[in-house]
Amino acid sequence: MMGTAPAADLPAFAATLQGFWKGEVLWHCPLAHFTTLKVGGPARAVIMPSRIPELALLIKGLRQHDIPWRIMGRGSNILVPDAGFPGVVIVMGQGLAAIRQVAEDASGINVEVEAGCGLARLVKWTMEQGLSGLEFAAGIPGSVGGTIAMNAGAFSGSVGEHIVAIGLMDDHGDYHIASRQHCRFSYRGLTIDHPDLPGPKQLGKGGGRCQEELLVLSGTFRFTRGVQHEVEARCRALNSKRKECQPHGVASAGSFFKNPAEAPAGRLIDEAGLKGARVGDALISSKHANFIVNAGAASASDIVELMHLVQETVWKRSGIRLEPEVDIWETDGRERH
Ligand SMILES: Cc1cc2nc3c(=O)[nH]c(=O)nc-3n(C[C@H](O)[C@H](O)[C@H](O)COP(=O)(O)OP(=O)(O)OC[C@H]3O[C@@H](n4cnc5c(N)ncnc54)[C@H](O)[C@@H]3O)c2cc1C
Repeated sequence: MMGTAPAADLPAFAATLQGFWKGEVLWHCPLAHFTTLKVGGPARAVIMPSRIPELALLIKGLRQHDIPWRIMGRGSNILVPDAGFPGVVIVMGQGLAAIRQVAEDASGINVEVEAGCGLARLVKWTMEQGLSGLEFAAGIPGSVGGTIAMNAGAFSGSVGEHIVAIGLMDDHGDYHIASRQHCRFSYRGLTIDHPDLPGPKQLGKGGGRCQEELLVLSGTFRFTRGVQHEVEARCRALNSKRKECQPHGVASAGSFFKNPAEAPAGRLIDEAGLKGARVGDALISSKHANFIVNAGAASASDIVELMHLVQETVWKRSGIRLEPEVDIWETDGRERH
């Protein structure tokens, strides 16, 4: 099971998996199809569950058979290695994407949204309903689950500020509800400290190991009532601002590095003279220096090499260590468990 994901031992792996999973499977499936950077070798299996109880059975089976697994939303903040992933990648997609109003009072409403719902769809929905809160998120391409795990943010707003509760599944397939007091949102991260779960658990930790004992199944958001055309105007204005300063319509994972306390990462990279630097088809965008773009046929190792070049050059010039915001998967799935 360890190391890369060779196709040769797929039949034995498939027999084990099909012993407890009866739904659809994409075998030996290139993960480049599922990431916005358009890189990444094959996973032994990709599964897109469409019901929570079947997801629970899957998680239980994976644990029982000691099969490594990882969770993915829209793959817009992940770098998968060229060797792929030696286990099961669970993609939270359209099958688990409901939006449900769960409470309402004079000032606003609470809405429960399943993890597979696209953030763009949720923003559009709030816009149509005249609900304010997520205007900053117009143009962020993730799923609701990935967005909560990463505490995605922009223009001084972040998703965590609007969350009142999160539906979770642990790696035994058991459900939990984390209310606001159990959630510690940080810069591009979330830690759950829940009395029924052992120790604080960190989700969506960009640039390092991501502990995946916890899956986000849903988030309950609090939105305030606004005026429909004003909410819409704010969304459009912020999305236009994003398009003015960021590359658009190219393969990327958004901002590649976290902004250190000293200065925005993009400015540090620009000042280091790295706009346009490239390794193979991986290049530093000339529009926004914190974007690494796949200009066509970049490999994951080209991107990692370019990342190291940026880190070393910025370190030598400014003494500041840039940390990736993107979650860089390692080839060995087990290290993360
Ligand atoms: C063009 C572009 C612009 C972007 N702009 C921004 C921006 O302005 N602000 C910002 O913050 N980000 C931005 N991003 C990055 C990215 O869109 C966000 O981080 C997004 O929230 C990730 O969601 P996802 O579904 O794609 O997550 P993925 O990339 O699929 O996953 C990210 C991490 O979350 C984990 N994860 C995913 N789903 C779940 C789940 N259900 N439960 C538990 N863990 C999960 C994954 O294992 C991984 O560790 C941008 C990306 C692109 C390509």
